Amino acid sequence: MEKWDVIIIGAGAAGMMCAIEAGKRGRSVLVLDQSKKAGNKIRMSGGGRCNFTNYDVSADNYLGDNPHFCKSALSRFTQWDFLAMVERYKIPFHEREHGQLFCNDSAKDILNMLFAECHQAGVEIRLNSTVDTIEQQAGNHFRLNSRRGHDQFHCQSLVVATGGLSIPTMGSSPFGYQIAEQFGLKLKPTRAGLVPFTLQPADKQRFAALSGIAIDCLVSHHHTSFRENILFTHRGLSGPAVLQISNYWQPGELIEIDLLPELDLLAHLKQAQQTHPQQQIKTVLQHQLPKRLIAAFLDEKLLEQPLANSRFEQFETIANQLKQWQIKPNGTEGYRTAEVTLGGVDTDDISSKTLEAKQAKGLYFIGEVLDVTGWLGGYNFQWAWASGWCAGQYV
Ligand SMILES: Cc1cc2nc3c(=O)[nH]c(=O)nc-3n(C[C@H](O)[C@H](O)[C@H](O)COP(=O)(O)OP(=O)(O)OC[C@H]3O[C@@H](n4cnc5c(N)ncnc54)[C@H](O)[C@@H]3O)c2cc1C
Repeated sequence: MEKWDVIIIGAGAAGMMCAIEAGKRGRSVLVLDQSKKAGNKIRMSGGGRCNFTNYDVSADNYLGDNPHFCKSALSRFTQWDFLAMVERYKIPFHEREHGQLFCNDSAKDILNMLFAECHQAGVEIRLNSTVDTIEQQAGNHFRLNSRRGHDQFHCQSLVVATGGLSIPTMGSSPFGYQIAEQFGLKLKPTRAGLVPFTLQPADKQRFAALSGIAIDCLVSHHHTSFRENILFTHRGLSGPAVLQISNYWQPGELIEIDLLPELDLLAHLKQAQQTHPQQQIKTVLQHQLPKRLIAAFLDEKLLEQPLANSRFEQFETIANQLKQWQIKPNGTEGYRTAEVTLGGVDTDDISSKTLEAKQAKGLYFIGEVLDVTGWLGGYNFQWAWASGWCAGQYV
C-alpha cells in the first residue's frame, strides 16, 4: 500500500495545475492517469497551438446551473497569473480575435512548462494507471484500487480531475461522475458542447454543395449571439460561431443566422434598384456572398430578375432568407468531436473557495468534471488552471 498526502486522478490541465501548487506547499503528490501520455487534450488543443487563455475572462464567459460558482476561482488565479507563468518560461505566444491567446509554435510548450513545474514541485505522474475503485476510511482518508486491486494507494486528500466525456479515444471516462455519485453528490445532466451541428436530411441535401464555405455571420439562440465564422461541412454546420451557440442549443430548437451582419440588405437592394435598375438581383448579391451559397438559398428565377422589375416584398423575402435564416439542426456530432462536456458534478455540492465536496471532507473536484463550461476561446483551460490552482492551496 503506497501512502501519499494527495492523490489526483487525471493528469490533464486541472490535475497538473493542482499537483504543482500542492507540491510547492510540501505535500507529497501522486497524479494517476489511465492514458499513455499526460495532458492529451492540451497537446491536441487549439489545432496543436493550444488556446491557453484569453485576455478578457469573466463569469459571463461560462455556463452552468450556478453562474456565480466560478467567480471565486477565476478571480484568485486569473489569466494574468497564467500568462506570467508562460512568460517566465519564455513561451512565444500571440493574440488572435476576441483576445484568444495561442502558442506561436506548439501546444507542447505549455505541456513542457507543466511537466517542468511538476518536476520542480516533486510531483510524481504515473501513467497507464486506471483507478477502478475508491473507499473512504476512518479519519476521512481514502483508499484507491487500480488495475483491479493489484495496486493500492492511500491518501489524505483525493482530487478528481477526470475531465468530461468528449473525445473518448483520448482517455475520457465517466469515472469522476461515478465518484461524485458514490459520495452522494448530485449530477447535472451531461451533453456534448462546443460541437458541430448535423442537419435534417432535406437541409443536408440542400447545402451539400456548400461544403468548405466559411462566412462571417451572427448566429443567435434566444438572447445569445456570437459573431464569428460558420463553416458548411459535408455533415452539417461547424465553425467557431456554431460551436459557441451549440452550448446553448437544446434538441428540437431553432437557431437563427444572419449571413450578412454588416449590411442592411433591404436598404442595399432598394438603393441598387435606383442606381442600377437593369442589374439582376444575383449580381448585387454576388458582391456580398459566394455564388453557390446564394443559389442554395434563393430561387433561380428570382435571382435572374432585373432589379427594376422587382417588388418590395421580393426584396423583403431575400433579406429575410439571408439575414434571418432559421434552421433546426438534426442534432450534434456528439462526444466524438465535441470540445467539452456541459453539465457534470453539481456545483451546489462543492465549496467555490476550496473546491472540496461539502459533504465529503478531503474529496475535491476540479476542471471540466464540474458543471462549469466555458465558451470557445481559452476559457475552458482558464477554468482548469484556476480551479486546479485553488484546490492546490488546500489539499
Ligand atoms: C480537440 C479539443 C480541443 C480543445 N481546445 C481547447 C483550447 O484551445 N482552449 C481551451 O480553453 N480548451 C480547449 N479544449 C477544452 C479543454 O481541453 C478541456 O476543457 C480541458 O482539457 C479540461 O481539463 P481537465 O483537466 O478538467 O480534464 P482533461 O484534460 O480531460 O483531463 C482528464 C484526465 O483524466 C484522465 N482520466 C479519466 N478517467 C480516469 C480514471 N478512471 N483513472 C485515471 N485517469 C483518468 C484522462 O485520461 C485525462 O488525462 C479542447 C478540447 C478538445 C477535445
